[in-house]
Order: sequence, then C-alpha cells, then structure tokens
Amino acid sequence: MPQFVCDAMLGSLARWLRFFGFDTIFFEGAGRELLDLARRDGRWLVTRNGALAARGPRSICLMSETLDGQLKELLTRLDLHPAPDLDNARCSACNGELENLPASKAIGHVPPHVARTANHFRQCQTCGRIYWRGTHTKRIVERMQRICATLDAGKGAPA
Ligand SMILES: [Zn+2]
Repeated sequence: MPQFVCDAMLGSLARWLRFFGFDTIFFEGAGRELLDLARRDGRWLVTRNGALAARGPRSICLMSETLDGQLKELLTRLDLHPAPDLDNARCSACNGELENLPASKAIGHVPPHVARTANHFRQCQTCGRIYWRGTHTKRIVERMQRICATLDAGKGAPA
C-alpha cells in the first residue's frame, strides 16, 4: 500500500485517506521539509502546489478543489482500488493504527448511550482515541462507496 504525506492545504484529504487505510501524514511545514519527509519515508507527496510537486520525483499535484474530486484524482493516478469500508482505517486524527477494544474497556471512555448500543470498538494505539460504528460512520462509508463507484465507472465497468 502506498504511503502519503499531504501538505497544509489537504487536511481533509489526509483524513479520508486514513479512512481508506492509507498511512498518511498531514504535514503543515514548508517545501523543503515536506520534500525531505516524503523522501525519507518513501511517501508520495500530495499537494496542490505544482511548483512544489515538480521538485520531488514521487509527487502528485492535484487539480480538483473538492474532496471527492481529489480522492478520485489521486486513486486514479496511482490505479488504486481500496475497499469502500472502514475495516482497514487508521486513526483519522493522528494516523495511528487501530486495534479492537473489548466493549467492557470502552465503558467510561465513550458517551453512555454509545456504551449501551455499540458493540464494536476500536482504539488508536498512538493517541488512545476510541472509534465505534454508528450513523456517522455509515455516512462516511456511503461516501466512500460513491467515490469508489466513480472509479469503476471510469474503467468502463457496466453501470
Ligand atoms: Zn490516533
């Protein structure tokens, strides 16, 4: 799986790449630092700055101004077809890896109504944030599915 570093303009894109399971750093530093970070980790540098992209061999300059458009553009450019679900998601806040958390350990760390109703929890191994399935994740998955459907359409698959 390719890894990414998104520049300061692309914070939303970074979060969504993490939903899809891509190891993605959001880095607000300037040109030289960004290029060095991308090179050191072997990451794709994702930016909307054409001049910056031209300075790195593994850089992608996105044209789209919308999140859906940027995701579609990036996945198409690298011919990536991630699963449209959150099964491999990383922490959207810090990019840490998520591991299953027994419901008994989530109690006291999530809102009471969530503790009563949710039964599948995962926790970030880096920042400790706890995730669960609910209406918010349903909306995210639906959007992932829409984005992935447009990728397939672009490949000439039957409608
Ligand atoms: Zn985290």
